[in-house]
Amino acid sequence: MSHAPTTTLEHRHRRVRDELRGRNLDALVVFSRPNITYVTNFTGSSAIVVVAMDRVWIITDFRYVTACRAAQEGEHACPGLELVVVSGSYEAALVDLIGRLGARAVGFEAAHVAVSRHDWLRRTLRQAGHSLDLVGVEHAIERARLCKDAYEVATLREAARRLSGVASQVAEEIAPGRSERDIALGIDVRIRRAGFERSAFETIVASGHLAALPHARAGDRTLTEGDLVVLDFGGVYDSYCVDLTRTVSVGRASQQARDVYGAVLEAHDRAIAAVAPGQSRFAIDQAARDLLTARGLGEAFGHGTGHGLGLEVHEGPRITRRISDQESDDEAVEPGMVFTIEPGAYLPGWGGVRIEDDVLVTATGVEVLTNVTTELLEL
Ligand code: ZN
Ligand code: ZN
Repeated sequence: MSHAPTTTLEHRHRRVRDELRGRNLDALVVFSRPNITYVTNFTGSSAIVVVAMDRVWIITDFRYVTACRAAQEGEHACPGLELVVVSGSYEAALVDLIGRLGARAVGFEAAHVAVSRHDWLRRTLRQAGHSLDLVGVEHAIERARLCKDAYEVATLREAARRLSGVASQVAEEIAPGRSERDIALGIDVRIRRAGFERSAFETIVASGHLAALPHARAGDRTLTEGDLVVLDFGGVYDSYCVDLTRTVSVGRASQQARDVYGAVLEAHDRAIAAVAPGQSRFAIDQAARDLLTARGLGEAFGHGTGHGLGLEVHEGPRITRRISDQESDDEAVEPGMVFTIEPGAYLPGWGGVRIEDDVLVTATGVEVLTNVTTELLEL
């Protein structure tokens, strides 16, 4: 269970219903797990939710009945939540429920349903004699999730505080001769000890030349003197994800390592300084990119500057280069948005540097949620 207060859920339902009204829909079928959590607090792995104008239906099987009952009472109760326990298949229960709603037009999350399931649904509704419009909908709930509400901001702030605590201890894991895998395990244990439900993704420990791969995993390589080591890890706290990267040196850093590190750090600082309400997300990316380009590292920075954080570790807004005209929608960042700033420089055959922090857009500027030194540690 997530713990958004009832009044917060009420507010979220209002937003989803406003979206539905705007699209002339009577209800929305929600398949995506993070979206289900967002509207109900339910965090089980199997459910379909239908948000109607006066009720929120949750279809689940016997494994989650107790969890759903819990979501019906107390200060975190989901308002208007009605439980449907599946006896046959989820699809059959959904068709039955949609039939009972007497709706004219029902939206479904087009991005989160398999084509086979969608075809089955359409066919079965028709066979059952329901003549309603089934309309594919995108971003109905994701759009609401872009700007965090007060409960989410408080949760992410606490999560970031805890992750910063983990980050301040990772130096203790670094020693020549230790394997990346072993260090990753040590970090994962610290994440759990810090009160996180789990790691938000597979912890990255990338050392030496392997640090040139932005998405390297932790492997068998052992650390040697002079390595730069990229440590990228995150945790899920009360269903919310935070994400942090530091790059450290094993022993004394070379002049090149210092130069690359210094450039990435300055790009990181510039991007954070560029964050403000109304600012273009592309301009935030550009701030980091321009600095790295000026230092001859533009080509070495091949990914976006950041990604949104929330119920998912990668969500909107994407802090990237402007890729095409279609992507210029939702360009400005707004108060309540939480995302990472994580420029990097990756030099094949040599290694890499990435520095990542989590930021919140405030009414007047930016609050950096994570808080641990960005100095190059030589361990
Ligand atoms: Zn990360
Ligand atoms: Zn990240």
